[in-house]
Amino acid sequence: MKTYFLPPTEANLLKCAFFLKKGEVVALPTETVYGLAADAFCDEAVYKVFRAKNRPLNKPLICNISSLDMFYKLSFSSSKLLQTIFEKFWPGPLTVVVQKKSCVSNLVTAGGSTVAVRFSSNSILKKITSMVGSPLVIPSANISGRGSFVNAFSVYSALEFKIRAVVNGGVSEIGKESTIIFLQGSNVKILRLGAVTKERLREVLKDAIFIN
Ligand code: AMP
Ligand code: MG
Repeated sequence: MKTYFLPPTEANLLKCAFFLKKGEVVALPTETVYGLAADAFCDEAVYKVFRAKNRPLNKPLICNISSLDMFYKLSFSSSKLLQTIFEKFWPGPLTVVVQKKSCVSNLVTAGGSTVAVRFSSNSILKKITSMVGSPLVIPSANISGRGSFVNAFSVYSALEFKIRAVVNGGVSEIGKESTIIFLQGSNVKILRLGAVTKERLREVLKDAIFIN
C-alpha cells in the first residue's frame, strides 16, 4: 500500500477524513505522541490498526473524541467527578476509563466492559475527528512493544506500506503518553502515569477517593 506523507493543509485533512470514513488507517499528531487513527465504530478499520502495529488483540485501544457530545457515543457515564474532569483536563492528555455502551465493539475494548476515552488538544486531530463525526481509536503510532514517536518522519519510516497516510503535524509538544485513570463512582484508580501527574490529579479532583 502506498503511504502518503501529508502536510496539514485543509485539503489534506479532508482527504484523511475521507480515508478514515472508508475504513482506512492514518497516523496523526496528538499533543502527547503520534497516534494511529481509525473509525472506532468500524471493526474492519480497527482490526487494520492491530495488524499495522502488530498489537495483540487482548490490548484494548483508547478512543479520541473532539467534543463532549461525542463522549456519549461511547458511554452513558455521568458524575460530578467526570464533569470536573471535562472542565479541568479536557481537551488535554488525560484518558478516562469508563463503562462502555453496548454499541462499542469488543475489538476496541478487548472484550472488556470498559472503554478508554481521551479528548486530545491537538488541533489537527480535533479537526479530523470532527470531520469524521465519530470517535477514532488512537493507539500510539509505532510497532507494538517498541518506543512511540513524537515526529511524523519516524512514524513514516516505521509504518510505511502498512497504513494509508501520515500527517506531518510537527513535533508532539508533550512527548510522553497520556495519563490513564479508571473511574467508578467517586473512586479514581491511576492505570498509567503519563503527562498528568498524580499531584495534579489530587489537586484538581479534591473530592475523589484515590485507590491503588
Ligand atoms: P497505547 O495504545 O500504546 O497508546 O496504550 C494504550 C493503553 O491504554 C494500553 O496500556 C491499554 O491497556 C490501555 N487501555 C485502553 N483501553 C483500556 C481499558 N478499557 N481499560 C484499561 N486500560 C485500557
Ligand atoms: Mg503504545
